[in-house]
Amino acid sequence: MKNISILGSTGSIGCQTLEVIDSLKNWQVKALTAYKNIDLLEKQIKKYQPEFVVVVDAEAAADLRSKLKTKKTEVLIGKENLKIAASEDVDIVLNAIVGFAGLEPSLAAAEAANDIALANKESLVSGGSILTDLVNKKGVSLLPVDSEHNAIFQLLKSHEKELDEILLTASGGPFFSYSKDELAKVSVADALNHPNWEMGSKITIDSASLMNKGLEVIEAHWLFDCDYDDIKVLVHPQSIVHSMIRLIDGTVLAEMGSADMRMPIQYCLTYPERIESLGSKLELDQIAALEFFQADTEKFPNLKYAYTAGKAGGTYPAVLNAANEIAVYSFLKGEIPFLAMSRVVASVLDQHQNILDPNLEDILNSDQEARRLALEVIKEWF
Ligand code: NAD
Ligand code: MG
Repeated sequence: MKNISILGSTGSIGCQTLEVIDSLKNWQVKALTAYKNIDLLEKQIKKYQPEFVVVVDAEAAADLRSKLKTKKTEVLIGKENLKIAASEDVDIVLNAIVGFAGLEPSLAAAEAANDIALANKESLVSGGSILTDLVNKKGVSLLPVDSEHNAIFQLLKSHEKELDEILLTASGGPFFSYSKDELAKVSVADALNHPNWEMGSKITIDSASLMNKGLEVIEAHWLFDCDYDDIKVLVHPQSIVHSMIRLIDGTVLAEMGSADMRMPIQYCLTYPERIESLGSKLELDQIAALEFFQADTEKFPNLKYAYTAGKAGGTYPAVLNAANEIAVYSFLKGEIPFLAMSRVVASVLDQHQNILDPNLEDILNSDQEARRLALEVIKEWF
């Protein structure tokens, strides 16, 4: 039997990870964590009987404690305990928390020398240098769950020394063909309606604004130690090619598959082995065409800001991420229009004094300050 801690088990990736675990059969769930969705967490406890769960929200945690019939599973309260779940003695920690809240648990997993299956891209965006340093120091395997990076990871396996550039594909989201005027009027419901993937609300909005691809460029930089100039984004509306690499002799290798996150999740869990999966089989003759376009960074400036922040390094990427989180949640609450999200990000980046070679405290402080500034800008403008 193998052991796993799943952080963010009640989310889209968390639930799909449990589906994969069901099909693999030789995995034992040691710990699960959630923010406050205790109804779903209670069902998961009943089925998987973990040693303990962590609920971040104190009120929800107290509710769960009083409702829980089983004595087998302990309920720990608060975000500090996410680090306990991450540093348990397990074969792998799957981090499917959304947002900056995932960084410290990722660091705790690496500190405990646990291998990490990382869905939480914000960990690498905000804390890329400290997380990768620790991962290297502790000899930890950092396996990317994100479909594009999982694809690149698979492709690079026997070609690491021959890489020329990474071609990161983007679906383009629901508004790829919209004009700027049309973009100005999109509703929250429009933005939540992603053409190819069913995901949590934050990443769905990030996909619509192309910030997701911006975060993924930074994620790829840290995962594959690749210069920003050697990471290109290509819009590919069919989401069949999950990403490509160009080798020094000009050969382009692509990884293709159906849009099903259970495949990259499983690859992380069975790595380096491959076994049959739940993923639906790709039938290329059922697909009319595979198209590729350049991304329009005038219409979707987030992508440009992510490259700029990534290249500047230091605390800029953490600030980009934090300002974006605030902007996305304000958009979801109907407080700001779609196009204001990237304006908020640009304004907060402009106001930031970069700290090069940051430690965790610098990153935490920059994140906090960027959130404060983003809220201030939103209050001033709307
Ligand atoms: P989600 O919103 O569906 O789930 C998020 C999970 O994190 C939930 O279990 C929630 O309880 C927990 N959570 C939320 N806020 C928290 C906090 N402050 N502290 C601790 N836990 C918290 O999100 P998702 O779509 O599953 O995405 C999770 C991560 O995976 C994100 O970083 C996302 O970018 C990445 N990712 C998702 C997909 C996808 O298909 N959904 C694909 C690639 C990458
Ligand atoms: Mg992705």
